[in-house]
Amino acid sequence: MAGMSDPAMISALTIAGSDSGGGAGIQADLKTFAAHRVHGLSAIAALTAQHTRGVTAVNVPPLDFLRAQLDACFDDFRIGAVKLGMLANAEVIEAVASELERRRPGFMVLDPVMVATSGAKLLEDSALQALRTRLLPLASIVTPNLPEAELLLGHPVADRDAMHQAAQALLALGARSVFLKGGHLPDGDTVMDLFADAQGVRQIAHPRLQLEAHGTGCTLASAIAANLCRGLGLGEACFAASNYVHAALKHGYRPGRSDIVVLDHY
Ligand code: PLP
Repeated sequence: MAGMSDPAMISALTIAGSDSGGGAGIQADLKTFAAHRVHGLSAIAALTAQHTRGVTAVNVPPLDFLRAQLDACFDDFRIGAVKLGMLANAEVIEAVASELERRRPGFMVLDPVMVATSGAKLLEDSALQALRTRLLPLASIVTPNLPEAELLLGHPVADRDAMHQAAQALLALGARSVFLKGGHLPDGDTVMDLFADAQGVRQIAHPRLQLEAHGTGCTLASAIAANLCRGLGLGEACFAASNYVHAALKHGYRPGRSDIVVLDHY
């Protein structure tokens, strides 16, 4: 991190959900920002009661309180990038979109969180259209996994060719770039992700790790945001974030009673 009184210090802001189990959401985002030596800010859009076996309750704070958190962050800090995670419903999405249209931060990383790996619903079905029309056009980058891409596009994405087409289709919906995560394809020993922008589509491959993990999507998106705060370009930020997630997964640990692995940020 830059010196304590450095006037040029840039912060990253996560607008997302809290995970009481500490593996995903706001908690993963702040750990990721810290590991990248970027100061982290948070505006909590939803609270989950959650452990490694699933989500047991969700509470969405009043919109006025979300706006108060955003005002507190934007009124005092130099925000280099905003990461959006669990936003729970259409009202929260509308409120966040209006604030971001007004505040115009340099970069917006949109993780279109919908369903947790455990199966818990983190976004109401009725909010999909608001996500598509209000947030995608604001996004510097959107980071869906395949099930999320399928919901955003309204059709299946079943193989690598379809992934290339899906990445282009997501650009056409208004995002400036796309990081499409291929981990859900039954693709043998390799996980193939795609980075797409106006220049074209690039592949990012990693060996598949044989484990069930929690918080990888949140960590990837917040690592991209941290890298953007540090001055990397969008493509570079994605490649570096992808390597970060792979390493954090490889050294992951099991803090709960299930086999679910949480990423190691240390
Ligand atoms: N809980 C919160 C608050 C999240 O934001 C997310 C994902 O973005 C999850 C849980 C789900 O994490 P995973 O699907 O990696 O288990």
